[in-house]
Amino acid sequence: MSTGDLEIRINREACRGSGECSVQAPATFALDDDGKAVASDPPRDDDEAIARAAGACPRFAIALVRITEAGPQPKATAH
Ligand code: SF4
Repeated sequence: MSTGDLEIRINREACRGSGECSVQAPATFALDDDGKAVASDPPRDDDEAIARAAGACPRFAIALVRITEAGPQPKATAH
């Protein structure tokens, strides 16, 4: 992960496997064998699709962090 990259953090305790994230950004989000969301690292969709996925989560389980020279900076959350 390098400067400018977007890091996706998924709260697996909150995730209920509804799948909205994988609809909005299908190349990045998927459900694992436990029915919880996982995200590719690095993301494989554009930033707008990733942001839509975070905003679509009904459980507010997706946080996005922009990696800067100063370190990880919160970009957006679904709250
Ligand atoms: S939209 Fe939220 S609750 Fe649904 S699978 Fe994705 S992370 Fe989990």
